[in-house]
Amino acid sequence: MRIVYSPRYRIDIGPHVYPTAKYEALHRELSAAGGWSWVEPEPASWEDLALVHTDDYLRKARTGAFTAEEIAEIELPWSPAIVDGFRLMTGGTVAAARLAVEAGLGIHAGGGFHHAFAGHGEGFCLFNDVALAIRVLQRDRRIARAAIVDLDVHHGNGTSMIFDGDRSVFTFSMHQQHNYPMFKPRSALDIGLSDRVPDDEYNAKLREALPQVLASNPQVIFYLAGADPFEGDQLGGLALTRAGLLERDRIVFDACRSAGLPVVVTLAGGYARRLEDTVAIHRATIELAARTFPDAARTF
Ligand SMILES: [Zn+2]
Repeated sequence: MRIVYSPRYRIDIGPHVYPTAKYEALHRELSAAGGWSWVEPEPASWEDLALVHTDDYLRKARTGAFTAEEIAEIELPWSPAIVDGFRLMTGGTVAAARLAVEAGLGIHAGGGFHHAFAGHGEGFCLFNDVALAIRVLQRDRRIARAAIVDLDVHHGNGTSMIFDGDRSVFTFSMHQQHNYPMFKPRSALDIGLSDRVPDDEYNAKLREALPQVLASNPQVIFYLAGADPFEGDQLGGLALTRAGLLERDRIVFDACRSAGLPVVVTLAGGYARRLEDTVAIHRATIELAARTFPDAARTF
């Protein structure tokens, strides 16, 4: 089974709650388990990035001309290496999206930077990889319509705003209401959850919501499988267990499979107190995707 990843995802952002080491740890575990064919992505080009981002923002990202306030909002230091790393991870989601429309499943061991807006970055997100992958598929006439299932614990504010008023892309975000970001632009469907919501309530709401997503008649689903609804997450306030998160993934994958829809999997957030929990949650998502879409391996 193919999976998109690069060892260069381990970007040095200094001491930070965002563990870029999770990608490498995931790669190590999956490699040890075997059965994976690793696809090295190309960085997203500046021309492609302009399908989503404003020229002014891209100029600032390229040259480091951000103000101190802008850097504080992105919550990442600026360096050419960090910008290159984010371009590469953005290209990774584009590569996974192409695999998905060809083979039925595209797994990216990275991505999910949903707090990036057209004209500014926020919350560890420099470029909106999912929005870009959708725009590239649309430009290349591989798809006309897409849907986003964003189950990161944080609202997908950048994505919602980018696709605001665009009927070709259905945005669904289920998140903890009283958490970052303060400003939550309206998605096509938003479910804001109370603090400490447990497995059963979470998954019942998800089951109830998915038919609305599928009714938008998408040709591909982008899944942001955030690990941060986990009860042990430092930046999340829900109370899902690892078993509950796996059930969440199963609900999403089964719904896509039943509808005959290709899926692009991205990891999004994950800030568990123990890195091994974050890695285990992401790994379980990836392995379940591969088991649910076994045909995707055969077209390889
Ligand atoms: Zn998050």
